[in-house]
Amino acid sequence: MKGRRSRLPRSVRIGFRDVPIAVRDFADQAEYGCYHVHEDRIEINAGLKASMRSLVTVHECLHAMFATAMPAVDDQTEEVIVRALTPQILGWIRDNPRLMALLADR
Ligand SMILES: [Zn+2]
Repeated sequence: MKGRRSRLPRSVRIGFRDVPIAVRDFADQAEYGCYHVHEDRIEINAGLKASMRSLVTVHECLHAMFATAMPAVDDQTEEVIVRALTPQILGWIRDNPRLMALLADR
C-alpha cells in the first residue's frame, strides 16, 4: 500500500478507550514498536516496511488489550502469547474480508 492508504490512524479503539498511535523514527532500528502501558499509547518505528508495520501494529494493539484484559499476566508470558497470536490474527483478518465486514457491522 502506498500514499494515504498506508497511513496508520492516529488512534485505535481498544475496549472503552482510544489508544494514540504515533509513527516516529526510532534511535534503535532493531526496535519495531512499543506499547507504553502507563501512558496507554503505541509507537511504531517509521522505518518499517508496510508488511512489517502491519504485524507490529497488531502486536502492539494486543499488548494494549492485555493491559486491560489480563493485567496480572507477567511480561514474559504476555510477550510469548502476543508473539504467537500476532501473525495468526493478521492472517485471519486478511484472509476473511467478508467475515471482518460482518463482524464490524453493529
Ligand atoms: Zn511485544
